[in-house]
Amino acid sequence: MARRADAQPDNVPGPFFVDRTCIDCGTCYQFAPETFMDGGDHAKVHAQPAAGPARLQASMALVACPVGSIGTDDKTDLHAAAGAFPHPLTDDVFFCGYTSDKSFGAWSYLIRRPGGNVLMDSPRAAEPLMKNLETLGGVSTLVLSHQDDVADHEAYHARFGCERVMHAADGFTGLERLVEGDEPIPLAEDLLLIPTPGHTAGSVCLLYREFLFTGDHLWWNPVQGRLSASRTYNWHSWARQLDSLEKLLAFDFTWVLPGHGSLHRAESPAAMKAELERALAILKRS
Ligand code: SF4
Repeated sequence: MARRADAQPDNVPGPFFVDRTCIDCGTCYQFAPETFMDGGDHAKVHAQPAAGPARLQASMALVACPVGSIGTDDKTDLHAAAGAFPHPLTDDVFFCGYTSDKSFGAWSYLIRRPGGNVLMDSPRAAEPLMKNLETLGGVSTLVLSHQDDVADHEAYHARFGCERVMHAADGFTGLERLVEGDEPIPLAEDLLLIPTPGHTAGSVCLLYREFLFTGDHLWWNPVQGRLSASRTYNWHSWARQLDSLEKLLAFDFTWVLPGHGSLHRAESPAAMKAELERALAILKRS
């Protein structure tokens, strides 16, 4: 629970504030940029939201914050915000909100599909979210992109009986399905698991139609205005990560949906490939 007494000094005056417990995961300023922004090593409120949709969105950011660093003196929208996840990005792809400090606020996503719903990475095991997931048809499969973003996977398995899928190279045991090797693995006609070792040995991406879920392998950097990946936050092999990024050029997608960093939507698969090639040229020089 955020404390007004510990509020960051650079919040603008008004009901919403970020306090000093912020871990700068980026969730609030990616989800509600009209209210929150990056203040250096922490988030801050740069504009108080107006009543209506903007205030609901700011309240949803409060709910999504992994460490409870956002506070508000105006509780009007909090009940609605708590029940507003998963939040639709398109008809069948949703942002789950309720990020977890166990995965440093990584985003997780729901794919709603007739063949069974899929969670990409695990959100916090929050009852309002789990209840809404139940209403949307539950969870058949939980794909874990890599070892850092597993959060409350056990609670989701216990609640929904979902099959947890992960690459064996990240060293987890006791999951229902551990895949091996570097070749893409069809999980269903519309779901392709793409091993992308590099960030960790067992990092994977998930391709669903035009959506590529990338974990910590690839994301959009709004400051640089391009796709990006991090050599600093690479726990296995930067050379392998570059190879894995190059491998993605063989696939068609228009969305990049990462665990950390911003989402990106390109106009066409060709435009996304051009973005990826541009990023690769820069990243190879880093
Ligand atoms: S969501 Fe919470 S922890 Fe993450 S940047 Fe915002 S205030 Fe900080």
